[in-house]
Amino acid sequence: MKKQFQTEVGRMLDLVVNSLYSKKEVFLRELLSNASDACDRSRFEGLTDKSQAADSAYRIQIVPNKESGTLAVTDNGIGMTAEEVERNLGTVASSGTKRFLQAMQDKADAPELIGQFGVGFYAAFMVADRVEVTTRRRGAEGAKWSSDGKSDYDLEPAGDDAAFGTTIVLHLRDDAKEYLDPWRLKELVRTYSDFLAYPIFLCPDPSEKPDGKDKDAAPKEPEQVNSMKAVWKKSKSEAKPEEVEAFYKHLTHDDEKPLATVQFAAEGATEFHALVFVPRTAPYDLFYPNAKLGLQLYVRNVFIGDDVKELLPRYLSFVRGVVESADLPLNVSREMLQDDAVVRRIRKSLVGKILGELEDMQKNRPEDFAVFSREYGRMVKEGCHADWENSDRLRDLAVFASSAFDDPSKTTTLKEYVSRMPDGQKDVWYLAADTWDAAKHSPLLEAFAKRGWEVLFFIDPVDEFFAERVRDYDGKKLRAADRGELDLDAPDGEAKKADKDGKKPETEADKKFKPLSDYLAKRFEKDVREVRLGTRLVDSACCFVADEWGPSAHMERVLRAFNQPVPESKRILELNPASPMVEKMLGLVGDESRASDLADLADLLHGQAQLAEGTPLSDPARFNKLVSALAAR
Ligand code: ADP
Repeated sequence: MKKQFQTEVGRMLDLVVNSLYSKKEVFLRELLSNASDACDRSRFEGLTDKSQAADSAYRIQIVPNKESGTLAVTDNGIGMTAEEVERNLGTVASSGTKRFLQAMQDKADAPELIGQFGVGFYAAFMVADRVEVTTRRRGAEGAKWSSDGKSDYDLEPAGDDAAFGTTIVLHLRDDAKEYLDPWRLKELVRTYSDFLAYPIFLCPDPSEKPDGKDKDAAPKEPEQVNSMKAVWKKSKSEAKPEEVEAFYKHLTHDDEKPLATVQFAAEGATEFHALVFVPRTAPYDLFYPNAKLGLQLYVRNVFIGDDVKELLPRYLSFVRGVVESADLPLNVSREMLQDDAVVRRIRKSLVGKILGELEDMQKNRPEDFAVFSREYGRMVKEGCHADWENSDRLRDLAVFASSAFDDPSKTTTLKEYVSRMPDGQKDVWYLAADTWDAAKHSPLLEAFAKRGWEVLFFIDPVDEFFAERVRDYDGKKLRAADRGELDLDAPDGEAKKADKDGKKPETEADKKFKPLSDYLAKRFEKDVREVRLGTRLVDSACCFVADEWGPSAHMERVLRAFNQPVPESKRILELNPASPMVEKMLGLVGDESRASDLADLADLLHGQAQLAEGTPLSDPARFNKLVSALAAR
């Protein structure tokens, strides 16, 4: 029966077929990988479901046929029912394909992306103009699927005599006949699929007579062409870099090299092998709660599961790879994993190794570390908040933009910041803002800049959570530049302290500006709690600050963006007593004839404070009018 491909599949097939992607050869890796997964799944079902005898002789066969121009890949794995065929091969079922299409949304035409995503089964159409799949699941009828990879496919029953498992026959295009050559096939298996846990046999070409011309090249009997040795169980010196890399690609479908590789074997109380990677690019769904992330788990050579999240804390969920342990029972279930002492020990030691690798990268491969921070820096900060045990190590891996640099991509660690602190600076200062530009040009920085004090820019919403957790560094307090009362002229940066009645000593300046402060406090009582003189400002007339314990303006916006309740809070308006505008306004207070001029200036001032902190203007139309009027004067 003829059926239409789902639109997305059609779109993708079009790209696959027309792509000029140079590494068409990866189609074989994709098909062998699927075959191996199918054996894993069958084996796993056999283990958990006693009614189904496990077939221990899992195998994968590759059969080239020069006469018919076909290449067949056969496995005796799980197979598919007709419905499964329809779902898996007729719609976008695979995560790789989804990621691919997601990436394609941003780029109108980028066939080279195909290679990066490993679109799985559909890669067959890079080399074949017709593909037939015959498959049968235990306990079900067989099904036969075939398609030319254009807009539709054919699906028919294949009856009871089809073998269990799956056979995929590729009718190779003229320019893909090299994949009928046994040497080429062997080379591809060794390069990409050597470590698969099932034997891969290259079978003799049935169209070639044993006494034919090519008798030296063609094998006479099925020949096993992969070593099956699990890379993760080899020692570091034993595993060749190409092999490790090929394994990474098999695992992730990523065409780039990993950013970091951690390979180790633990001995002692808990024995296990691990081979894990940090991909160069973060998955698009890293922050989705249901993202398929995590490690593969093997127990004594048997595949137990994918995406085993229990093996790593959430903040390291971007790490991909395999863990194999002989200390877990074969029939371990997901529920058991959650609270298992062995799993906990594996996790602890894995985390230690991964952090060690990241520290090493930070020290010795700064360029890679910059990539890491860009892709995963947020996870590090999240970890600092969540993982008490390792929070000190994570704290040193966290990086921030800073007022010290003119380049938004340049960052600093807390340690580097502290090493640059001039004499007289006591605390570590930060300013939270929505963007680097907003932070860089904030009037709040003026007084810091004048003193040569650096201010970290907290641009990521997690940064403020980080500061909540990491309250000081090397004995120096982390302090928000837009919060509380400061006196940066005082040797310690602290404002004058309140006396025991809670009253602050009033300075001459306070007295002088009191009429203006009172006027503004009344005019803006809706959103301003207090008007006071500050020493933060050098050039600007005013700014908003939060009080020492209230949420910052940035945090309020973050909470709002996540639909979280935002505590009712009013701002403190700080005036710069040295500003000519403020001085002028003071002169107008009490002059009835200039009342409306004063009101105009007051609203301008208020608007400026809002703009500077990144809060939307309360009355943009009026603000615009006032600015225009000012310009026309
Ligand atoms: P992926 O392997 O990334 O999921 P594919 O496009 O390669 O994506 O395959 C889609 C689905 O088709 C697989 O998830 C699997 O369920 C099924 N499939 C593919 N090849 C086989 C096979 N040889 N045996 C059983 N199922 C298969």
